[in-house]
Amino acid sequence: MGLCSRGILDPEEKRRIALRRAAELRSRIADYLEAKKGIPSGMEKREELENKKQKILKFFGATEEDWQDWCWHMRNRISSVEVLKELLPLAPEEEEGIRRVGRVYRWAVSPYYLSLMGDEPWCPIRRQALPSAEELKDEFGVPDPMAEEFTSPAPAITRRYPDRLIINVTNQCPMFCRHCQRRRNIGEVDRATSREDLEAALEYIRQNEEIRDVLITGGDALMLDDSTLEWLLSQLDEIPHVEIKRIGTRAPVTLPQRITPNLCRILSQHPPIYINTQFNHPLEVTWEAKRACDMLVQAGVVLGNQAVLLKGVNNHPFVMRKLNQDLLKIRVRPYYIFHAKPVKGTAHFITSVEEGLEIMENLRGYTSGLAVPTYIINAPQGLGKTPILPTYVLHHGEDHLILRTWEKKIVRYPNVGKSGPEAPA
Ligand SMILES: *Cc1c(COP(=O)(O)O)cnc(C)c1O
Repeated sequence: MGLCSRGILDPEEKRRIALRRAAELRSRIADYLEAKKGIPSGMEKREELENKKQKILKFFGATEEDWQDWCWHMRNRISSVEVLKELLPLAPEEEEGIRRVGRVYRWAVSPYYLSLMGDEPWCPIRRQALPSAEELKDEFGVPDPMAEEFTSPAPAITRRYPDRLIINVTNQCPMFCRHCQRRRNIGEVDRATSREDLEAALEYIRQNEEIRDVLITGGDALMLDDSTLEWLLSQLDEIPHVEIKRIGTRAPVTLPQRITPNLCRILSQHPPIYINTQFNHPLEVTWEAKRACDMLVQAGVVLGNQAVLLKGVNNHPFVMRKLNQDLLKIRVRPYYIFHAKPVKGTAHFITSVEEGLEIMENLRGYTSGLAVPTYIINAPQGLGKTPILPTYVLHHGEDHLILRTWEKKIVRYPNVGKSGPEAPA
């Protein structure tokens, strides 16, 4: 029935049409609603996580107060198989893999992040944090696929865009992600960027008036101590052309205890601040993570998420849908999903681009637009983030487009602004 003839329908008939459509819409997510029940989430596992935490505290002879102290977590990062074995069941081949990889690549896990781990080797938390023998089998990865070494016009700076840049402030992290894109910087020791290099980076920003957006990252930018961070933010505030500051950190995910009242006081004094973090799985969205995000929002920080598409962690449309919905509940706006880069030692995480497109296909329309991030492939040689989208424009004609909707319904759309109104069909 055409749109025009609907005008003459009585109200009851209109209501019947709407009800039929509502039933159709409900059926579009019936499979998800069923599957969602089987996707583990950090919020639902509150008791289990509390038990794991108690076990870890007991092992370290530590207190609840220690647990709330991020420095305690940093001092007690787990980085030996012997300690790990005391806290988790480890299959012999896992143990062997961790030992072998440990001789080539550094690993460490905060007690908090360890408390999120399940007992199975395929646990998405384990996969992100514990080394696997697969890291040594990577034949095509390179250390620096984005050529960051060639896009650094001043110490500690990476510049890939006209109006914004990155300052790299530390190589430290609460947890060394197995999929880390800057693995080459992790090295063997923790090292913060020297004050001298930070001064040089600031000087570069002062000299380049087109830089209006400065991203403080690392490593994990919140591994800076409060006073250095406060100094850096104050310095940036004194540069008139710096309009916004951004902080890149996984602390809300890997060490939410880092979000302290003092940190929040500092952040609240230097608006506008945008923090992008990296939640990759609904299991990471815990009550402790929520508390950290609540505190940041109270401090006036705007929160975003940059997930990485990782095989065996989140390469499933329903897991990604649940993740992005759970993030909105804790006031974190999904921003990007990154296609994993060919970084040496991480090939086992890389999915096909088709999998990424399938995930995007299953977000748009099926859930809130707020839960739909942009899927990004980083162009080689540091040429920048490139958005990838399922094809919604089937044909781009002279005066019309042929579109297909999120439900794959095909529609003709007159490009009125270009050609004037088409005669009604
Ligand atoms: C990702 C990135 C940015 C920020 O990019 P947005 O798309 O603005 O979030 C800036 N500089 C560099 C070098 C980056 O890699």
